[in-house]
Amino acid sequence: MGKDSLVYVEMEISGIVQGVGFRPFVYRLAGRYGVKGSVSNTTDGVNIRVAASRGGLQAFLEALSAEAPPQALIEDIRVAEVSPFHAESFEITTSSHGREKHTLVSPDLATCDDCLRELFDPGDRRYRYPFINCTNCGPRFTIIGDTPYDRPMTTMACFKMCAECEREYHDPSNRRFHAQPNACPSCGPRLWLVDAGGRRIDGDAVSEACAKLGEGKIVAIKGLGGFHLACDATSDGAVSRLRERKRRYAKPLAVMVRDLAEVERYCRVSDEERELLASPRRPIVLLEEMEDSTISRFVAGGLDRQGIFLPYTPLHHLLMHEVDFPLVMTSGNLSSEPIAKGNREAMERLKGIADYFLLHDRDILVRYDDSVSMIFKGREYPIRRARGYAPYPVKLKDDFDVEVLALGAELKNTFCFLRGRHAFVGQHIGDMDTREARQHYEEAMEAVRRLFSLKPQAIAHDLHPEYMTTLMAKEYALPLLGVQHHHAHIVSCMADNAIDGRVIGVSWDGTGYGTDGTVWGGEFLLCDQVSFSRAARLSTYPMPGGEACITEIDRMAGGVLWEVVRDKDEVRNLLSVLCGMSGERAAALVSQLASGFNSPLTSSAGRIFDAAAALMGLRGVAHYEGQAACELEAVAERADSRYPYEVVIGDGLWEIDTRP
Ligand SMILES: [Zn+2]
Ligand SMILES: [Zn+2]
Repeated sequence: MGKDSLVYVEMEISGIVQGVGFRPFVYRLAGRYGVKGSVSNTTDGVNIRVAASRGGLQAFLEALSAEAPPQALIEDIRVAEVSPFHAESFEITTSSHGREKHTLVSPDLATCDDCLRELFDPGDRRYRYPFINCTNCGPRFTIIGDTPYDRPMTTMACFKMCAECEREYHDPSNRRFHAQPNACPSCGPRLWLVDAGGRRIDGDAVSEACAKLGEGKIVAIKGLGGFHLACDATSDGAVSRLRERKRRYAKPLAVMVRDLAEVERYCRVSDEERELLASPRRPIVLLEEMEDSTISRFVAGGLDRQGIFLPYTPLHHLLMHEVDFPLVMTSGNLSSEPIAKGNREAMERLKGIADYFLLHDRDILVRYDDSVSMIFKGREYPIRRARGYAPYPVKLKDDFDVEVLALGAELKNTFCFLRGRHAFVGQHIGDMDTREARQHYEEAMEAVRRLFSLKPQAIAHDLHPEYMTTLMAKEYALPLLGVQHHHAHIVSCMADNAIDGRVIGVSWDGTGYGTDGTVWGGEFLLCDQVSFSRAARLSTYPMPGGEACITEIDRMAGGVLWEVVRDKDEVRNLLSVLCGMSGERAAALVSQLASGFNSPLTSSAGRIFDAAAALMGLRGVAHYEGQAACELEAVAERADSRYPYEVVIGDGLWEIDTRP
């Protein structure tokens, strides 16, 4: 073929194209269609230079989109003709360092079927090797310090590949071609087991750990985004010991189950739920537990739904293969602190909680909690976005020309960077009330900023003047945008569903600071992306003691009763009959309500659910935000009548009258 009949083009491909076996895939296509040139990673994605016949180029381009690796997600392919160049063959060249970093690295991926087969094949050189991975699976965000996604930028940099691994890494036809975390038993990370005093336990670390779990012990296991605390989920003794030591008395614990068939022994599973459980993201999925499930009743903490997930690292597979019971796998921390990630840090912070520590020497760079998700009306409904999801961006309908960093609220915090059409929503951080949480927040934010080279030009913060994030906003020398809490909820929902224009947004919530300085939380806003007006709200009730009502929810029952009855003796009497409140407490509460001292009014939906739960005698104290609401929901699902309400149409603000 003469040189004249060739076309020369350069392609820029963006999307999730790194860490998913994209370059070897391109290499194989080039071979198939007789295309010459090169492919390389750039900080913007993947660059391909091609010299080919017109027909060859056409076929190559079509196959590029149609046959891309399963975990790749092509967002855009830009093709431009370039001046002729000389190419004898097709090559994979080393990554070029561009100026701006817009690459989308894939999140961490659950162990693939090929690796799983090798893991349990006695003839394979990685038989029972807990760090087996390939271009289709393995750690990503949790080990990457910077882009482009190449080994020196990861915590695998300190492991020098052996000759055999090196050969795989450089062989374009191999599944491990340029698999950055590639390793084997002779050159890669190692696993070992120690007791709480740091003394090494002899024997096979996995088998020994499984034996300890079988004895009802609590084992801290170093995972992908941090440590887990594990114990036998069917043992009341082990589970209550874990709760006691972790000081997590009520919040549900997640359970890891060997495989889908095993899940069906404990929970009802729909097709959509099955698919979500087995997806490479491997979130914890909330499932309806069966009556005859043998999982300890202390695991779910009184709720109907059980948080179940499948093994997602080779180590999990090895463990689950060897124990014959499901494992509680809860994040390795003391209640309300962030998950531990370093060996020494874990030994220190989990002292007194774990009896044994299953450790390894591949460092975790960035903490990621497990994600929590559920299927609602046939669709995935994420509850906590972290490992496997964040910070892979949400694609927006609009293109923004200002980069914004949104700092998030105080409870269940996440932050978000906005650039162009991408919203990089950070991983779930949790409540911002401890020094450790703030440190986790800053580390995670810095990691995302560096990974995607983000340069915010403005800071968005909650209107609440006392939130830690509001105080932090002022430390940036950048323009500040104060955003009303519920307006932010509604606009996020609009962005997620690619809706613009004007909407009636309904935001039911715990608490959020209103523009009038009162506590909002049951709001109907007429709004667009920029502005809103408050069209309606739920009736307001006093919160005697302010934020104390969030845990002592029977205070809220007092608030509702006072609003309705307005009679000291009767409210006192009702509180003792309905909520079992002591005479002394009821008297103090009623006189506080009568005086109006520290009893701000709230339209919060969360507080009404709390009050209803307390009045029904479900509970008087909530151990975590939303506990009473979850229990109320479980009771309400079994009822067939509805709670009546009236809409009071006023001049300005309408009111949904929820008074009994
Ligand atoms: Zn694999
Ligand atoms: Zn090796």
